[in-house]
Amino acid sequence: MRRLPIFLVIDVSESMVGSPLRHMQEGINQLINELRKDPYALETVYLSVIAFAGVVKTLAPLMELYAFYPPRLPVGAGTSLGAALNHVMDEITQKVILSSPTQKGDYKPIVYLMSDGSATDNPDAAIARWKRDFMQRATLVSVGIGPFADLSRLSEISTSMLRLEDVKENDFKEFIRWISQSVSSQSRSLGVDLPISLDKKELPMLSLVKSLNDAAAIDENYVIISGLCAKTKLPYLLKYERAPMMNDVPYFKQKAQVYGYVGVYPLEADYMAWSDSRVNMNKIAASALMGGGGCPHCGALAALAQCGCGQIFCVNGEGVAQCPACHQEVYMSASGEDFDISRSRG
Ligand SMILES: [Zn+2]
Ligand SMILES: [Zn+2]
Repeated sequence: MRRLPIFLVIDVSESMVGSPLRHMQEGINQLINELRKDPYALETVYLSVIAFAGVVKTLAPLMELYAFYPPRLPVGAGTSLGAALNHVMDEITQKVILSSPTQKGDYKPIVYLMSDGSATDNPDAAIARWKRDFMQRATLVSVGIGPFADLSRLSEISTSMLRLEDVKENDFKEFIRWISQSVSSQSRSLGVDLPISLDKKELPMLSLVKSLNDAAAIDENYVIISGLCAKTKLPYLLKYERAPMMNDVPYFKQKAQVYGYVGVYPLEADYMAWSDSRVNMNKIAASALMGGGGCPHCGALAALAQCGCGQIFCVNGEGVAQCPACHQEVYMSASGEDFDISRSRG
């Protein structure tokens, strides 16, 4: 039986935390359930899930649908797009069987690469490698999740580029259904490359990216801060969204951009292992952040305390606290002074 290898390459950077990641997690389950109902897909489709943040790893190796168990998606800092491309090319080289005069190999693999941000590494070498060795061997469908996804780097090597305008639950479900249908029809086509088609009437939230201008992202709208719970030592993320500038209010001059609190999200202990280890120089003034929440792990009242070492951690009001990173005892008080906080890479 010739196999149809499908690789899902998923951005699990911090900006995905919250509902986008939850939709993605549910989307993998939905995709498997839908494909399993199709006897053609069940027979030919082999699925693999690769995640990338600061680092890239295979979460589920290429496997037949009936045996496939959906992996848990992690979270990390950074968007190593070049590393992700190199990783999937290595996987294709190792796992996909080429046709030879004596045997019929696998069908042409399809890679669905989904990202909500822009590369934090330099993907030039990986893009050149794809152009040289993989343009004919594999189909790359690049999908921008939301308005901040920058697909422009992938324009030269993508067979199709799509953008999911909004990451609402129903839109995401429709998007996964579209993937499942295009995989299904590919599994029936017996190796004939089908064009990736989009019916605008059925999928109003998905748009085909045609020009490089459309592929570029608009300015980043979020500030993401990572902290450590002082009690459990587990990581969490605080997410802030850019607030509109109030320039048109008479007699009111807003001096700087501020960001409103969106939420705080608990992370698992593997967050550091998925993160880029380079030092982050990107800072933001605490005074630009409006509001905040408690610790999602231990319930402490404030999740945005900072130690002299730079670590953000949780505290339960004023008093002596121990920094979970450098273990120094620090006296915490609610001061009116401004301080700089390291932003995460997103
Ligand atoms: Zn805590
Ligand atoms: Zn410290």
